[in-house]
Amino acid sequence: MIDLFIQIRIVDIIDVVLVALLLYGLYRLLKGTAAISIFIGIVAIFLISQLVNALQMELLSSILGAFVSVGFIALIIIFQPEIRRFLFTIGAKTQTGENKMFHIFKRKSRHISLDTDTICQACRAMSDIKQGALIVITRQNTLADIVMTGVTIEAEISKPLIENIFFKNSPLHDGAMIITDNKITAARCILPVTNNTDLPGHYGLRHRAAIGVSENNDCIVIVVSEETGAISLVKEGRITTLQPLTMREILEKELK
Ligand code: ATP
Ligand code: MG
Repeated sequence: MIDLFIQIRIVDIIDVVLVALLLYGLYRLLKGTAAISIFIGIVAIFLISQLVNALQMELLSSILGAFVSVGFIALIIIFQPEIRRFLFTIGAKTQTGENKMFHIFKRKSRHISLDTDTICQACRAMSDIKQGALIVITRQNTLADIVMTGVTIEAEISKPLIENIFFKNSPLHDGAMIITDNKITAARCILPVTNNTDLPGHYGLRHRAAIGVSENNDCIVIVVSEETGAISLVKEGRITTLQPLTMREILEKELK
């Protein structure tokens, strides 16, 4: 045991610290995207394979070894959008001249309560005049990859702004609005459409996109139908119709 500690060189410590920083940087980059679960899975497989190796469990070690050896190519394929974004952030300078890559290591404060009242008022007003809307409220997963498909806004939530964005002639009305930490982060975002074939035929693309995004993410989606004015709440791929009067109560319960 003592021998083991004596053999640890300063270079080994630097090696471990650099790997830890790299993993943390990757974690910060992927946090808020669906790729984070894959990343954690890959790190877990790697750690288990190292442990199995050390314990000389031949069969398991050869199976996991095969996974790890093709892992590099698999990583490039799976993380293609994230790798692109990573290389982009290395190259892109922020307005202050600071390199964006270092933002990856910065902490972001969370736990800001959502102004559900304003969102409900806006949805009720849009429902009354049958103005279609698609609002994604993020939680742990901030849907960074989906935000990138739209127009960044970063504005305080307000009833006129929400109504204005979804107003038919507004250049931002198409697609989805993303709300994170009580801020409208983006509009005109493209959501993944569900592949669920069991849905009633009357659900069009707006409702199918709301269901699609919530299937693999922890977000909550509110849909206001342009055709019927109905307000729906979508969570974990399931859609329920909301009554305008009880909407706020249900939304607050869901967001807890
Ligand atoms: P409604 O009841 O409002 O008519 P719907 O479910 O019938 O809704 P559509 O009529 O097909 O859906 O709605 C089309 C609108 O949905 C588009 O104008 C666009 O704003 C939005 N939409 C369609 N596909 C997507 C998508 N993949 N991501 C985000 N928004 C989308
Ligand atoms: Mg329609």
